[in-house]
Amino acid sequence: MKLFNPEDCLILVVDDVTMNLQVMANILDKEGYEVTLVSNGYQAIKRVYSAKPDLILLDLMMPEIDGLEVCETITSNPDFQDIPIIFLSASHEKSHLLTAFEKGAVDYITKPFNTLELLARVKMHIELKYSRQKLKQLLEEQIALVQELERLANTDALTGIWNRRYLFMIATQEMNRSQRYNFAFSILLIDIDNFKKVNDTYGHSIGDEVIIFMTKIVQENLRLPDCFGRFGGEEFVILLPETDEDEAYIVAERIRTNIQNQYLQIADYKISITISIGISSYCLGDKNIDIILKRADHSLYQAKNQGRNRVIKHSTFS
Ligand code: GH3
Ligand code: MG
Ligand code: MG
Repeated sequence: MKLFNPEDCLILVVDDVTMNLQVMANILDKEGYEVTLVSNGYQAIKRVYSAKPDLILLDLMMPEIDGLEVCETITSNPDFQDIPIIFLSASHEKSHLLTAFEKGAVDYITKPFNTLELLARVKMHIELKYSRQKLKQLLEEQIALVQELERLANTDALTGIWNRRYLFMIATQEMNRSQRYNFAFSILLIDIDNFKKVNDTYGHSIGDEVIIFMTKIVQENLRLPDCFGRFGGEEFVILLPETDEDEAYIVAERIRTNIQNQYLQIADYKISITISIGISSYCLGDKNIDIILKRADHSLYQAKNQGRNRVIKHSTFS
């Protein structure tokens, strides 16, 4: 698999000897690479910023700032860390090469160099650079895919809020926390009143819009740690961590009145709904989440029985 075209690759050559620059430029140009040349370290750093090359051939010994310092400056900038730097060194300068690798160089070529060796090393390091980029991109795509799958697995397709599966997971976590630390924890079970009539009057797709409208109002009335999800059909659950029954009642009443006071306008229709809410809170000795949910369901049943559009706490009738 061809990872790159030489014409798309810019190579920066840094050398204080003009003759060396010309020789390098010739060799690389013949191979098809784009080449940019500079004759000192300051210019090299400036050129990296302005041209962001794909690879740098860097002379080790130069007056003013030497190649090692240039290399350190470039590799210490996260924007340029993926640019491979190959040092050009005379054979008697070999003692410096260990430092060069420490400062982030990937390779070196000894002057006078062999043309084929130079081209082979340049090609290999550009290929490695592109392979790393490709791997990084693939990894990012995989992570995004996994996140999207997780989102799909945990949310309700119509409203985008959490689904039953996720609600159960969080409810179990909260229940465990309450058991361990004796934290308060409440559940609101919400059901839209006479929703069948909405569907029968306006049709199922407007019914869907009403469900979305209702979830938006609820969301506006929640705090960050609260967890709101669709339990199924037109039944919803809100998990309220560290909230006792009386505090939960205040939240529930706020939601109920906000829904009662707003309407959804679709074409000429102004559709308003009401909801009933059953509240149940964690009690010492509760073994699992189903027990709390069952109590919330009883409370909800009472709310419906008493005429709908109301909030009922479990403690008021138990
Ligand atoms: P109550 O006040 O006793 O809760 O009466 P209700 O009419 O709301 O209750 P019922 O259980 O008789 O009807 C619920 C209706 O909700 C029936 C079902 O078709 C409708 N429904 C459930 N899920 C959806 C949905 O996703 N979209 C639409 N449009 N309707 C739904
Ligand atoms: Mg030199
Ligand atoms: Mg209903």
